Amino acid sequence: MFSNNEIAGAIRRKALELGFSACGFASVEELTELRPGFQEWVDSGRAGEMGYLERNMDLRLDPGKLVDGAKTVISLAASYYYPIPQHIPGNSRFSRYALSEDYHKVLKARGHELLNWIKHEIVPLTGRVFTDSAPIFEREWARRAGLGWIGKNGCLIIPKQGSYFFLTEIITDLDLSSCLPSSRLLSSSSLPSSCGTCTRCIDACPTRALAGDGSLDPCKCISYLTIEHKGAIPDEFEGQWNDWVFGCDVCQDVCPYNRKPVQSTITEFAPRESILDISGDTIKNMDEAAFKQLFDGTPVERAGWLGILRNFAFLNREAE
Ligand code: SF4
Ligand code: SF4
Repeated sequence: MFSNNEIAGAIRRKALELGFSACGFASVEELTELRPGFQEWVDSGRAGEMGYLERNMDLRLDPGKLVDGAKTVISLAASYYYPIPQHIPGNSRFSRYALSEDYHKVLKARGHELLNWIKHEIVPLTGRVFTDSAPIFEREWARRAGLGWIGKNGCLIIPKQGSYFFLTEIITDLDLSSCLPSSRLLSSSSLPSSCGTCTRCIDACPTRALAGDGSLDPCKCISYLTIEHKGAIPDEFEGQWNDWVFGCDVCQDVCPYNRKPVQSTITEFAPRESILDISGDTIKNMDEAAFKQLFDGTPVERAGWLGILRNFAFLNREAE
């Protein structure tokens, strides 16, 4: 029979062993205080074509609706950082997380491994694993679990580790609340923001998408416009694209907390040599079959062949 502190410590150690960089715990409760701000954000049209954000608002605000008897969110952060040259592949720029295995499957598998290990080795529980796969305020739960703070660039920043992370949650009926306030293994309170007076991300954002309070306007964000957005990229952004073909890392790359980012130990997140070695010109002249073969199983599939061609066409327009 383990104490709650021992259970929490064991889960954290196992999470790190499985390749996660940080693990914390937060008690499940409805995020009522986020509702007005989120509603205003949606009403202002900033969700763009991401209608799913609005549709699942109640679920998003209450993880208790996702798992019966939910008591605890186990928040897990996994670094995807591997050093890569700035302009890759060739003369184009893809977000650094785009060049390897898609994180959904990789992290879900590790989350399930952790959940099963807890169940069989530590304590009986039920729970579900999520990684960007359900309406959950992932960064807010990570913040509440004491992993870090949400920076002015909208990313979760983990002290001494940076912000190149994917987040995963296990929502479970395991009740660890009795040890939350006092345990040194658990984070008793959220970390305050350490952005201070820094505005590097806001100043460096090529399209002025960051509001300064940790929120962004997706309709101005290169990441959203190159991946989620359907249709043409608006003319107003010509000259601001800085060679990005899929995603954008600018507001993370300039962050002082990413000076020495922790490198991932998850080998599936190492960039594929086949992509690093190819030129942007080759990619934009590929037929659909070759494109699918090159990017099979990577996040780039989300934009699709036509989406990537559209993005290259926009860059060509910029260059003319
Ligand atoms: S991802 Fe790029 S475009 Fe989007 S907010 Fe960050 S710097 Fe701006
Ligand atoms: S660049 Fe500065 S303001 Fe932006 S997230 Fe990093 S520390 Fe915060």
